[in-house]
Amino acid sequence: MLALVHYRYKSYAKPFGLLGFAAGVYAFGYAFEIMRGDPAWTFLWLRVEYFGLSFIGACWLWLSLDFTRKYKYLKPSFFYLIFGISAFFLISVLTNNLHHLFYTYIGIDNSGPFQTAEFGKGPLYIMHSLWLFTSFILSAILYILHYIKWSSILKKQSLIMLIGSLWTLTGFSIYTAGLIPWHLDAGPMIVTINGCIFAFSILRVGLLDISPIARERIFESMGDGVVVTDLDNVILDFNTAAQGFLPMISGKSIGKSLSTVASELKAYDEDKSNDEIKPFTLRIGNLIYFYEIRKYPIISKPNKEIGIAWYIRDVTEQYKLSAQLKSYAEKDELTGIWNRRKWVEMARMEIIRTQRYRRPFTVMSIDIDYFKKVNDTLGHEAGDKALISITDTISSKIRNIDIFGRIGGEEFAIIFPEIGREEAYTVANRLLAGVSDNKIHINGKELSVTISIGITTYDGGSDMTLEELIRKADNAMYEAKRTGRNKVCFAV
Ligand code: GH3
Ligand code: MG
Ligand code: MG
Repeated sequence: MLALVHYRYKSYAKPFGLLGFAAGVYAFGYAFEIMRGDPAWTFLWLRVEYFGLSFIGACWLWLSLDFTRKYKYLKPSFFYLIFGISAFFLISVLTNNLHHLFYTYIGIDNSGPFQTAEFGKGPLYIMHSLWLFTSFILSAILYILHYIKWSSILKKQSLIMLIGSLWTLTGFSIYTAGLIPWHLDAGPMIVTINGCIFAFSILRVGLLDISPIARERIFESMGDGVVVTDLDNVILDFNTAAQGFLPMISGKSIGKSLSTVASELKAYDEDKSNDEIKPFTLRIGNLIYFYEIRKYPIISKPNKEIGIAWYIRDVTEQYKLSAQLKSYAEKDELTGIWNRRKWVEMARMEIIRTQRYRRPFTVMSIDIDYFKKVNDTLGHEAGDKALISITDTISSKIRNIDIFGRIGGEEFAIIFPEIGREEAYTVANRLLAGVSDNKIHINGKELSVTISIGITTYDGGSDMTLEELIRKADNAMYEAKRTGRNKVCFAV
């Protein structure tokens, strides 16, 4: 905020200050000119006026370019040009006696209430008028373009600047057309009133009058996306980062409702909480992005909510990292099925569910037959590949809701919710056949293995612990080993 304030007062200070000074010199000179004095006095102050008037066109252009953010034009060559032109006109007035190209003659007009200078307009005088008109017209065009391009908050400011420019343009046109009597110069009054209009536009303090430089430097360089809306969620402004996160937002979105432009944000429309971080996902093509969104009210003085700043932060990387950490914590690294810790946690939940709803479930203990031999003959790496192949086969033959975990080296366990004894037997035979029929290809060799299965079922009736159920299933599995392997046994 300090930075904003700092930039705010820095911006346009130079052109605006200089314009005010030039207008002041002009008006001051004129005030002395019209005091009654001898003609020499009048002519002296007429010249003094030009120390201000000659520079008004230059300052006018500089201010409008600065205000409308056309910084690329504000190069040294631009300043040499505009102040060179200004100096040229000043010198031509000061040396008029030598060439009479600015004023063809100068006389005194005493016909009105004031003594004024009356003069003939030389070619340089006309050129100076043209230069002034050019700077007024160019500035007015810049303010109009700025008004069209920018969001409504900044619009108001540029509109006031435009009114100032048009006022001055009209005033000078009336004066140049000779419609002001007694050779009175309306210029000082026009320029002074305009100064008030410009000052009103520039010096209005408030967050939304953020200076262009502050906006450029801070708003645009922010890593967070910011979309500014009014209280009806109509987009007023946004920064480059926001456009990166929400590619559907473009210059054409200004004036449209945010939820129309990005329908994914509709859910947050009515959300008035302003310090809460909300997750938000966006699908762009095949990719899903994870964002955090936070809404801040924009408060104007005195304490009136006038808009909303939507902060958007991309947390896709953090999300992926935490998903990966979660996976490390829950999944078996080799086979990708649940690890022992997670399997036990899920199994306990299943026991609680069964005890509450009296729905049966089956616990299956599985051990690979003669697995040592696979390692001994083909090597440990081949054994790993076989383990992956066997788990894939089993996974393909069970449901998504069945909880399949690797309990030890080549020992597995599965919980089958809602499955009783009869069905469990069918499933077990399907697994036995699936594994024994599966040909595992390792280093050009074909291999097939078998498994032994022990089963216990639980209907939630008696108080059983997970450890007891596992022990029963294991005992049944050992029974299957003892009685021939590649078979299923039920716990007694
Ligand atoms: P049984 O039919 O009686 O089960 O015979 P078995 O040879 O399978 O005996 P047991 O179950 O006791 O042997 C387990 C073997 O599995 C020991 C070890 O070499 C192997 N093993 C355990 N974990 C891994 C592993 O992660 N990778 C590989 N390649 N082998 C493993
Ligand atoms: Mg074993
Ligand atoms: Mg074994």
